[in-house]
Amino acid sequence: MTSPDSSIAPRMMSGKNREEDTRTDRSLRPRSLDEYIGQHRVKNNLRIFIEAARGREEPLDHVLLYGPPGLGKTTLATIIATEMGVNLRVTSGPAIERQGDLVSILTNLKHGDVLFIDEIHRLNRVVEEVLYPAMEDYAVDIVIGKGPSARTMRINLPKFTLVGATTRLALMTGPLRDRFGAVLRLDFYDDEAMGQIIRRSASVLDVSIAEDGATTLARRSRGTPRIANRLLKRVRDVAQVRGADSVTAEIADAALDLLEIDELGLDEVDRRILLSVIEKFDGGPVGVDTLAAATSEEADTIMDVYEPYLIQLGFIQRTPRGRVATRLAYEHLRLQPPSSASFYNAQQALFGDPE
Ligand code: ADP
Repeated sequence: MTSPDSSIAPRMMSGKNREEDTRTDRSLRPRSLDEYIGQHRVKNNLRIFIEAARGREEPLDHVLLYGPPGLGKTTLATIIATEMGVNLRVTSGPAIERQGDLVSILTNLKHGDVLFIDEIHRLNRVVEEVLYPAMEDYAVDIVIGKGPSARTMRINLPKFTLVGATTRLALMTGPLRDRFGAVLRLDFYDDEAMGQIIRRSASVLDVSIAEDGATTLARRSRGTPRIANRLLKRVRDVAQVRGADSVTAEIADAALDLLEIDELGLDEVDRRILLSVIEKFDGGPVGVDTLAAATSEEADTIMDVYEPYLIQLGFIQRTPRGRVATRLAYEHLRLQPPSSASFYNAQQALFGDPE
């Protein structure tokens, strides 16, 4: 049996954006809130904010979107600008290196514009300070000159809307977080919403997909639209090579098996992480840096990309002393969980006796 290239499989399942995604993202992105599938809580909130702001003929208050990569934060920022009928300016935390870069972006905005800052938790602190008066008072303070003759000058900005996106809310400073009028969390999509997203993407990409093919793909895309879109393209390749007219469950299963993606959407890296916790660290608790060293992954990647879904599945628990594998993880990997007594004691030692 030929083993798939394991350097391809892990990357398939990361929600992070890749160049290939960027090329098709534009056509696959929903353009209005009505077209945007799932995330009902977020959509309902946004609908009210947008309608109220439009009624008052004012720019929308600043919005912070957070959640794992690939769930639709950038898409929502685009939709917010479209629904408000304004321009969108896109940048990201790491791209803004100096205060001057941000000042120049801000002073070039027009009334009502949406400024989208992706990975806003990665803005450096000095740059971030420019945002405080910009968000609160629509003004920036710049220093002119040097030494004793230096003075500050305040420049007024047009009223704009900042839409921030982050995968790590905890890394944002309090002062920045507090300046957003709305903080909205995006969750992994359920199978039904994923099925709808896959059928929609298939029709945009002109891929014929059977009902059971969409269901299979939905179940194995770890609740993440970006991953579903990426897998759809690989599954389409298999269908084409086999000369099949449409993507059936059988074809989807065969393609995903080839990529070593299991029935819950876990890939080789997820399994390596779980196995490390279980086999190298006796089921945990293990700190994320130690786990990163043991699995040759970066700690940030584990926290941003892999762990959220493993936690969602209930396979890993995050405790103050580190990560712990749960009984469900042992069962999924077909391993013998520790005897219930020791399992119970370990959990009790971590969380304290409930009494
Ligand atoms: P993020 O910014 O959270 O990393 P994106 O907004 O770039 O994610 O979304 C990734 C891909 O998933 C895009 O191609 C987008 O078309 C698709 N997508 C995301 N959310 C939805 C949704 N609710 N309905 C349909 N497609 C979606």
